[in-house]
Amino acid sequence: MDHRATLSDRCDLNDLQEIALRINHECNLNCAMCGQKNFHRDKEPGYIKNQLTANDVRGLIAGRPELAGKWLYIMGGEPFLNPDLFEIICCVKKLRMLCCVNTNGTFLSHRVDEFLATGIDVVMVSIDGLEKDHDSFRGKQGAFAAAVEGIRAIQNRRRLRPVVFINCIVTESNVDHLCDVAEFFTGLHVNRVNFILPLFLTMKTGRMQQRIMKEHFGFDTQFWKWFVHEPPRFETGVLRAQIASVQQRFATCRFNPDPSSIDLEAFFVHPERSFREGREETCRVPWRVLEVLANGDVTTCRDLNDFVVGNIRRESLDAIWNGKLMREYRAYIAAKGLFPICNRCCQRDGYQTEESRAYVVR
Ligand code: SF4
Ligand code: SF4
Repeated sequence: MDHRATLSDRCDLNDLQEIALRINHECNLNCAMCGQKNFHRDKEPGYIKNQLTANDVRGLIAGRPELAGKWLYIMGGEPFLNPDLFEIICCVKKLRMLCCVNTNGTFLSHRVDEFLATGIDVVMVSIDGLEKDHDSFRGKQGAFAAAVEGIRAIQNRRRLRPVVFINCIVTESNVDHLCDVAEFFTGLHVNRVNFILPLFLTMKTGRMQQRIMKEHFGFDTQFWKWFVHEPPRFETGVLRAQIASVQQRFATCRFNPDPSSIDLEAFFVHPERSFREGREETCRVPWRVLEVLANGDVTTCRDLNDFVVGNIRRESLDAIWNGKLMREYRAYIAAKGLFPICNRCCQRDGYQTEESRAYVVR
């Protein structure tokens, strides 16, 4: 069945499943693959200092009981550098939304009791392998030790909540020993370990995206330039063996996208092909998720941060959700299918918060 036939450019706010807030841009780490850093350098001076306040978040969600049970996903930069982080979580929990924070983990142990008292539901900690690999990939000695200490601090205090996930990007450095990584992470007794196959965007794909955005929306997108990475040089045989071994030994480990649903060889060798080629060729994210940046700008998706369709400091949620540009973007997907940048976007394979629902709603 072609799911596109059922998609309309308008969308009821009740269908919104997640509000994703990039509450600040600044970060204490210096990751090799971080496109955000370069994007900020290209913006006007001071852009990187933008941050959402608790008042911004209150203005967006307060008095909206229909958002209860929906997700509010917090990311950065590093969200713990935003002084309003705990107040934002309290405000979200007051509305009985589910709240998830994505962090590099280095500040987790600092004010752990205060953090847990906010009622946070899910903590996602990004750790890309064992100590040497992680510290080198993230550009800071001690980043691994601090994140592990933070997870242990939570585990020592929590009861059922928060649920703790580790997100680990599969890289050229860790691909041949994912089993060792999984063994260490599962030893921390986290609820789930997500191994994420590397996202990459080639120059060719980026230019195709730029052309389409110009033709259909009159917009000259530049954001992709900061995320251009050539596909990693993996031995797919090695990756396949490690995946099989991890899946056999560790029930709490997952891979994203699901390796059983993709052609692994084509995934790395043919970036111009969608990783779900031949199957469902659409994405529901613009009908399900609202993406907000640290200056209040709203964008259609996380991989298109410069295509701004509204601003929460100037417009209401309803006005943005069914505003002209948001509808045009949905209409494009409904009529033509995916964009070139969607080829390796794993958002459409299930935004992570939705996958978390089973862990927190029992
Ligand atoms: S932790 Fe995240 S925001 Fe910070 S440098 Fe790394 S990728 Fe960028
Ligand atoms: S697949 Fe990713 S980039 Fe494409 S529309 Fe969906 S969220 Fe946006």
